[in-house]
Amino acid sequence: MPHIPTGTGRTPWRASVLTLFPEMFPGPLGVSLVGQALAAGLWSLDLHQIRDFGIGRHRAVDDTPAGGGAGMVLRADVLAAAIDHAREASGDLPLFYLSPRGAPLTQAQARTLSAGPGVMLLAGRFEGIDERIIAGRGITEISIGDYVLSGGELAAMVMIDACVRLIPGVLGAEESLMHESFEDGLLEYPHYTKPREWEGRATPDVLLSGDHKKIAEWRSEEARRITRERRPDLPGSRAKR
Ligand code: SAM
Repeated sequence: MPHIPTGTGRTPWRASVLTLFPEMFPGPLGVSLVGQALAAGLWSLDLHQIRDFGIGRHRAVDDTPAGGGAGMVLRADVLAAAIDHAREASGDLPLFYLSPRGAPLTQAQARTLSAGPGVMLLAGRFEGIDERIIAGRGITEISIGDYVLSGGELAAMVMIDACVRLIPGVLGAEESLMHESFEDGLLEYPHYTKPREWEGRATPDVLLSGDHKKIAEWRSEEARRITRERRPDLPGSRAKR
């Protein structure tokens, strides 16, 4: 399976993906800053085709659910062979199964993972995977939100993107990361640019005042206001006014 290579001397952050649809990659991960970082060798992408480990002439990867019911389930023995192979090829990386049942991916987790060696991601299809593989290979389930996708590939891309943009050198202005949504448990303050007035709507005067202390205070208060209004569950919404 393709290893999308890198060209620098340093060990890149590694994303290793097990999927039935490797042709979906790098897809959106191949463009813009994350794509440039891939080409520059700041991170690398290993793709492992689960079907290569399928059973018999037809390389079967799934079977009917025990107990009956609709859909098909990815087999534990096939997934085990694919994971064992991927671990040999990509090294020992934290292994996640993208799953609506998992704990939701957070910015804090993306930051922690981006500081490590990388991630190995299992993208499910059909009804999902045989439960036994989760304990059998030490897998953590992780979700990208409370909705159901047709496969884990898009979720894997979301998770990789969230991690890769935090790798030092991937984004131009590292400082902008410090004020982003979810840092300090807050949503981000509003942005404005030119023109100064647009369709009768003005840019707040304080942002044009040149007073950096006042601007910082305004942004901080706006971040807290927006967080209180939209996400009272976030810790920043409870910060003192
Ligand atoms: N039957 C499963 C359920 O109800 O939990 C849904 C299976 S879904 C049709 C197929 C695959 O999409 C899953 O195995 C998983 O890898 C992926 N997937 C779907 N929704 C997801 C989400 N919210 N987060 C992460 N992965 C998801």
